[in-house]
Amino acid sequence: MSQKNIKVSLIGNPNTGKTSVFNQLTGLRQQVGNYPGITVEKKMGICQLSKDKRATILDLPGTYSLNASSIDENLVIELLLNKKDENFPDVAVVVTEVENLKRNLLLFTQIKDLEIPTILVINMSDRMRVKGIDLDIPLLEKELKTKIALVSSRKNIGIETIKNLILNYETLSTEPCLNASSIDVDYFNNLRRAFPNQLLYKLWLVITQDVNFLNLERNEIKSGFTKSKNDLKRLQQKETIKRYQFINDTLKIGQTIDTSKATDIRARLDRVLTHKFFGYVIFFGILLLIFQSIFNWSSVPMDFIDETFTNLASFAKKHLPAGEFTNLIAEGIIPGIGGIVIFVPQIAFLFLFISVLEESGYMSRVVFLMDKIMRRYGLSGKSVVPLISGTACAIPAIMSARNIENWKERLITILVTPFTTCSARLPVYAILISLIIPDKKVLGFFSLQGFTLMV
Ligand code: GDP
Repeated sequence: MSQKNIKVSLIGNPNTGKTSVFNQLTGLRQQVGNYPGITVEKKMGICQLSKDKRATILDLPGTYSLNASSIDENLVIELLLNKKDENFPDVAVVVTEVENLKRNLLLFTQIKDLEIPTILVINMSDRMRVKGIDLDIPLLEKELKTKIALVSSRKNIGIETIKNLILNYETLSTEPCLNASSIDVDYFNNLRRAFPNQLLYKLWLVITQDVNFLNLERNEIKSGFTKSKNDLKRLQQKETIKRYQFINDTLKIGQTIDTSKATDIRARLDRVLTHKFFGYVIFFGILLLIFQSIFNWSSVPMDFIDETFTNLASFAKKHLPAGEFTNLIAEGIIPGIGGIVIFVPQIAFLFLFISVLEESGYMSRVVFLMDKIMRRYGLSGKSVVPLISGTACAIPAIMSARNIENWKERLITILVTPFTTCSARLPVYAILISLIIPDKKVLGFFSLQGFTLMV
């Protein structure tokens, strides 16, 4: 029996828990690939909704708005504007998170204005109590002209609601949130007259966004409605202000935040981690700890590996018949492999630390902290992630530079990252440092060799 397939696009700001929602919806039925020609990861998954209906879920890259400023964002806009695209969604699921609803809703209102059936997921509902947040869901549904699923992907709450809403997507309202023509009444009325069959907000995006619209007569639209760059910028700002006015008005009645009820330590931690002085001290302390651990903590597994290979070599020498071949194995192959394997613990520690920094969200604080310093060198705060990841491996580090909006900053980051010492070069440094720097402790605790590696 053939199943009806509903095409779903999962859209949202970065760090709203979109990936977690995607994983909950699709389980292990996922496929990861790349968009043709670019290094942006394309994740698709299948979600069984009922006996005869399933959804193909496309996890789009995290984006803040439909005002494209990075490759990832271009991709989202190109898909949402192109009805002929094979992945054009039947229904869009916009993931937001409860603590940053105001910022997250900007993208939601834009997608809604494209008149695509849209479901709003408000994730991280488990944080509502500690933050003292209360939401009036029926009222928000009415104001935002949508259906809402209040979800905690971490606690697996609300996932069934999303599935049900997808299943019944045909009942969703496609009414826009903002009347696009209110941005500039005359201009938009002319636009409407010239292209009566096109959606007004879609035309506006074609005019303002520098993305590659394959199936739209972009030049035709643009040539009749040219405005100076400054005028367009002014209108875009007006649009953003109007959207935030709408969002503010909606949240004013649909959301209450009682900070006296909040029991959050994250905000306090944030203040310290991004502090003008202590923020840097903590950052350099963490880097020092990482490089210390590479020398100190990894010495235990390294000694073990060293001993194992020495024993293996002497075992081979003892038990194999004497001759050239045995010498090759016992004095060549085994010590040779041992010489490489011995550095695995150091590399593993480095990868482990970088993943912990990324996953814990600390890296985002570092990005914020370092932005001012990095700008002086023509880089962005976001360059910190590729530069630090470059110590593990330059290739994924360069790929992670794609989130930097400004192409000049992106290019400089890409060109500079290979100068960061990657882990493949680490064994060479380790050997040189072990040969040249004495194995002494400074201040009674820090290894001098660890210090040298950090420098
Ligand atoms: P994405 O960048 O939008 O794909 O977000 P991720 O799925 O990577 O999640 C970002 C962070 O939010 C991670 O640290 C998750 O552990 C955390 N997170 C995701 N869902 C929830 C949730 O329901 N509750 C809480 N408290 N945290 C969550």
